[in-house]
Amino acid sequence: MRTVPAMLATLSLARSGLDRAAHRRDEAGLVGTLLNRPTTRVLVLIGDQAVVTTDDAAPALVLRPGPELAHLGDRLGDAGAGAAGGTAGVMVGDGAGDPAAASPLTAYLGTDAAGHDHVLIALPPGGRSAEDASPPADGTSRLAVLREVGAGLDDTDAGLFTCALALANWHATHPRCSRCGAPTRVAAAGWTRRCPACATDHFPRTDPAVIMSVVDEQDRLLLGHQAVWPDKRFSTLAGFVEPGESLEAAVRREVGEEVGLEVGEVAYQGSQPWPFPSSLMLAFRARALTTQIRVDGDELEQARWWSREELALDVATGELLLPPPLSVSRSLIEQWFGGPIRDAGASWR
Ligand SMILES: [Zn+2]
Repeated sequence: MRTVPAMLATLSLARSGLDRAAHRRDEAGLVGTLLNRPTTRVLVLIGDQAVVTTDDAAPALVLRPGPELAHLGDRLGDAGAGAAGGTAGVMVGDGAGDPAAASPLTAYLGTDAAGHDHVLIALPPGGRSAEDASPPADGTSRLAVLREVGAGLDDTDAGLFTCALALANWHATHPRCSRCGAPTRVAAAGWTRRCPACATDHFPRTDPAVIMSVVDEQDRLLLGHQAVWPDKRFSTLAGFVEPGESLEAAVRREVGEEVGLEVGEVAYQGSQPWPFPSSLMLAFRARALTTQIRVDGDELEQARWWSREELALDVATGELLLPPPLSVSRSLIEQWFGGPIRDAGASWR
């Protein structure tokens, strides 16, 4: 049996070059103050997209100096560029519909190694603000989603985009108090939502999900195919952790439910945020004690074992399509395989 590295190599979306400087979030008017400084770098999200350079081999986020976003100021409420002394991160309406759900959001993301403060402005797509913040038509930049560019960004940009998207996703889906139902307001520079009716503070949430490479006594790897996926696409098993459940129990339950295998040893391998919309993927290696696969036929349509030789052949002939490099699943598969695997064609997203 081959030895495999104990832990996964650095995962694309687990990288970061930013000090979140959480102690500064309660400084009065922090975001508004920072937006007035030319040294502040602003990441604008339009829906789930950010502006990136068009160098596809090494894309970079296009971050803008705070004052350049001044033209959005009157739509950003008290946190806007023109209101240095205001309350940080108040959301205001930007059009029709639920004003809390479809509003610009501002948040303080942290400071980089060079001392530049970073601020997020998240805009709902389609509005006037989004139009103003869209890339110019000169071909030097474009809008991209994190799935597309996450693996190619440098550490700082990957961490920025991941954090910004996770935070924006949480705000977009939690406009109201979960205790009393009243609309909540952004506080703590974008890191809290406060209920004015019952004074409850709500904090951004992350949903833990386990993802595991299941290996049998012969060191073969199990991969599964979901009914909703196109043909030939296989991946490691994964599932959400349920309330009151340990991570190890979640691994054993998911494997049992999806393929009917009994799991022995379970070993933690690493983690990666997965803000699509709000997961944290926790990776494990799981040793199967049994080999007879019984697919649940519901979520999972097919599952089978691969030896390394079989997997290399099936990938080379295009009979097996592996998940993209950005995913924890791909890292788990390559960890078991013993090195990088070259896709015959494009991997799937
Ligand atoms: Zn409330």
